Amino acid sequence: MPDLVAVFGINNSALDTAVKLLVLFVGLIWLALVYYTWSDARRRISDPILIGTATVMAFVLPFAGSIIYMVVRPPEYLDDVRERELEMQAAEARLLQSGLLLCPHCDYPAQSGFLRCPSCLKKLRDQCTGCSKPLDPEWRICPYCETEIPGRTPPRRSRRPRASDEDSEDAPPPPSRGRGRRRAQRDEPASETL
Ligand SMILES: [Zn+2]
Ligand SMILES: [Zn+2]
Repeated sequence: MPDLVAVFGINNSALDTAVKLLVLFVGLIWLALVYYTWSDARRRISDPILIGTATVMAFVLPFAGSIIYMVVRPPEYLDDVRERELEMQAAEARLLQSGLLLCPHCDYPAQSGFLRCPSCLKKLRDQCTGCSKPLDPEWRICPYCETEIPGRTPPRRSRRPRASDEDSEDAPPPPSRGRGRRRAQRDEPASETL
């Protein structure tokens, strides 16, 4: 590189070689940093476009691009994030098994039998209308007494094949009375949860 040598005013061939070696060395470090940026971004970022942007930046802006990347890169490796999520899931499963749950509103440890959070007073569960046991929000029927949960249990027509006949009779037997009661209760929890 004659122009660089001219800039520094170097005539000695030994110095010339040293400068060339230095330039080569700096260039190698630059390429190594580009590779490092690419491989590090792959371990921290899931979006391929962002990985490409970081790598191109490290290439176009030698050293500065890599330094900027190190400043703004995500602090954690994707593997660590995944591991932490798995650990949290396992911890939640352990809590669930031990009958302890966290209140979804304030994270207060509430037992699975609690109807209301003792800390933030928000409603956690409805009560079974049949046996008064606390109902899990995902249940569609009370597992303790088989009482249907209003608004959850899908209507089962096969169980009442003569429903239309009963309705037309003047003295409806208990089933239709039960249905009326259930329909009345269906509105109650909806207004409570609102
Ligand atoms: Zn709470
Ligand atoms: Zn029940």
